[in-house]
Amino acid sequence: MLRGVLVTLFIGLPAVIGVAAIGGYILLKRAFRPVREMIEKANEISHSGVHSRLPVRHTGDDLEQLSITLNQMIHRLEKSFENSRRFTSDASHELRTPLTIIRGELEQMLAANNGASEQLKQDISSLLEETDRLIGIVQGLLALSRLDAGEAQRENTRFDLGELAAATTDQMSLLAEEKGVELRCTRNHRVEVKGDGSRLKQVVVNLLDNAIKYTPENGSIALEVRAAKGHAYLEVSDTGIGVPSGDLRRIFDRFYRVDQVRSRAIEGAGLGLSIVWSICSAHGGTVHADNLPGGGCRFTVMLPLAD
Ligand code: ADP
Repeated sequence: MLRGVLVTLFIGLPAVIGVAAIGGYILLKRAFRPVREMIEKANEISHSGVHSRLPVRHTGDDLEQLSITLNQMIHRLEKSFENSRRFTSDASHELRTPLTIIRGELEQMLAANNGASEQLKQDISSLLEETDRLIGIVQGLLALSRLDAGEAQRENTRFDLGELAAATTDQMSLLAEEKGVELRCTRNHRVEVKGDGSRLKQVVVNLLDNAIKYTPENGSIALEVRAAKGHAYLEVSDTGIGVPSGDLRRIFDRFYRVDQVRSRAIEGAGLGLSIVWSICSAHGGTVHADNLPGGGCRFTVMLPLAD
């Protein structure tokens, strides 16, 4: 009898423990499946925006309550993002017309006041400059709120990025010439991407405009378009003042300008690169900046190739 009990203990007990462990593991896995689904969905929401919701399993337990509460929170977040976007869009719309009127009137005053003192003319010119700056900021804000609303891809056509870059370089070469900076473009044959051509042209314009602004006389700017490993690359390198390494990540933030003192003399509001960033991410691409060893910096845009 004792031998029988021992045999049962030595063989039966590990078997029972093994079965209990496997059963427990399977049950735990099944019980945690809804939590895993929620985590996956939450990750997806944090990457793709707050338009979707967490899955709700109608089990009547705390997990159902948790997913409903989190969904209500995401809904409020979505509303508040939407409100702030609409506020920016409405405010910039409302500001655009009066600013354009002020600009027109100042221009008229400057043209009509032939007998005005030199001081008055200077004051009007400086008011005109400030009004132009404000108009630039309002246009930048309007562009950003449109991009936030998902208008980055009004068109979705296939085109050669190299051709677009070369044409934009041609158009901006006069600006570079005036500044005494050399501007050249090299490109691979047919680097085709899909998207909104006018928005992607804005990316090239903003990057070249910055490169011209921040490169002193006798410097040079090189724009290169190439295809590699399923991606299109657009690189703008310059021999300018570069970006301090601590600021490289922040320059894509809205209204961020590196060191107000160095930027004060140069026109701009700190919106150009955030527009570039928004357009690139809406096209499934990225943009990043780094400093070159010999001075100057390089901006690299990466976009998926059309096929
Ligand atoms: P801004 O209107 O001030 O040029 P951006 O968003 O285009 O605004 O750029 C943000 C900041 O990044 C600028 O204030 C400037 O200091 C820095 N920056 C951008 N491009 C360059 C560049 N090519 N060389 C050096 N600094 C740059």
